[in-house]
Amino acid sequence: MTSYADLLEKNRRYLWNPFTQMKDYLDRDPVIVARGEGRKLIDVDGRAYWDGVSSLWLNVHGHRVPELDEAIRRQLDQIAHSTLLGQGNVPAILLAERLVQIVPSGLAKLFFSDSGAEAVEIALKMAFQFWQNVGKSRKNKFVSMSDGYHGDTIGAVSVGDVELFHARYTPLLFTSYRVPFPNSYRNPYRDAEPREGALHAVQQLFERKADEIAALIVEPVQGAGGIVPAPKGFLQGLRALCDAYDVLLIVDEVATGFGRTGRMWACDHEGVTPDILTIGKGLTGGYLPVAATLATNRIYDAFYGEYDEFKALYHGHSYTGNQLGCACALENLDLMDRNRIVDNVKELSPLLAMRLASLRQHPHVGDVRQAGFMVGIELVQDRESKRPFPVNKRVAWRVCWKARELGMLLRPLGDVVVFMPPLASTEDEIFEMTSILCEAIERGLREVSS
Ligand code: PLP
Repeated sequence: MTSYADLLEKNRRYLWNPFTQMKDYLDRDPVIVARGEGRKLIDVDGRAYWDGVSSLWLNVHGHRVPELDEAIRRQLDQIAHSTLLGQGNVPAILLAERLVQIVPSGLAKLFFSDSGAEAVEIALKMAFQFWQNVGKSRKNKFVSMSDGYHGDTIGAVSVGDVELFHARYTPLLFTSYRVPFPNSYRNPYRDAEPREGALHAVQQLFERKADEIAALIVEPVQGAGGIVPAPKGFLQGLRALCDAYDVLLIVDEVATGFGRTGRMWACDHEGVTPDILTIGKGLTGGYLPVAATLATNRIYDAFYGEYDEFKALYHGHSYTGNQLGCACALENLDLMDRNRIVDNVKELSPLLAMRLASLRQHPHVGDVRQAGFMVGIELVQDRESKRPFPVNKRVAWRVCWKARELGMLLRPLGDVVVFMPPLASTEDEIFEMTSILCEAIERGLREVSS
């Protein structure tokens, strides 16, 4: 096999990695993965690492899962890919049926895509065009949350709130009014609890602008914003406001879906059905790039009818509804049922919380946030004032580096250390991974403070 040194040199010469400052990455001996085994990734020199962020928050059962491998092989015996444009395919139709049966009731139609960002683009286009199709084209703006992340394509960036992206890609595509997210650790509302403050702000905005607003988009737990769960009742409050002011509610469950929070959908914790739901990541168990956007019949019906080129939804890519991906997703859902994956997350979440409890005493740990197997640990220079570390200390990045030395791969988000184990992780595995996590935080913080 090609050596690590050769591969690194070829990476240097030929490959441009995503979201990556390339010199910084190449100069720091990056891990080059050769294979996977259960909840571990194994590099080209044979060293094994726990996959502490489920690759990119998407792995469900682990790597090299015999049932998923076999499902892909079975599909390969039939066909790898044909288009969904003007024709159907077997696994795509069966998967659409299966997903509609398990999403919050009321979501009735499914549109496939290849990534979470694309699922969000479709949601925005659906909402935007829905109002045109029903003769209210003035409703063409969006409402979104501060610190939201919905993907890196320009439409999704327009409703996200990542300053780095906005600074680079303005003027963006859609107009979006930003409402401060009800962050319980850093409450942006001076005179109100986070939930009440945010709901009041949304109501004020709707009161003035509802006739211009197509939809509001929200993550039930902010992911890239630092793993920040919305307060209980927030989604329900948004649902009520969207109903009262005739604004569509888009819930982005790309990160929270498929059991990550201990229910199949984060919406299930609140009994909320959005008008449009975006899903991705865990859909194929972490194997293949399939995502989807689901909508109610009210939305679908506004696009339905005899041939009318203005009414159709103009979206679709070369690989939309790919058979291999859909077959893999069907098997993933069966395996999730057979192995009680959602229950596993629910049952082991208290253990995970207990294992992280001691971190709360650390003078540089500001907040430990958890929703099921979604954990964010915010590091601060000063607990009292919540003052962050200077950016150039790269504190969470250092912790991730220590974790790597100890045998687990993590990724930082600003000053937040993210931990998202594969959903099938066992009690023993959670125990081992959290030992490394706590030790890495201890060592990283010692290095920064010394
Ligand atoms: N929406 C949310 C909430 C996400 O967390 C992400 C990715 O992390 C996306 C959308 C974009 O998904 P993808 O990276 O598959 O495009």
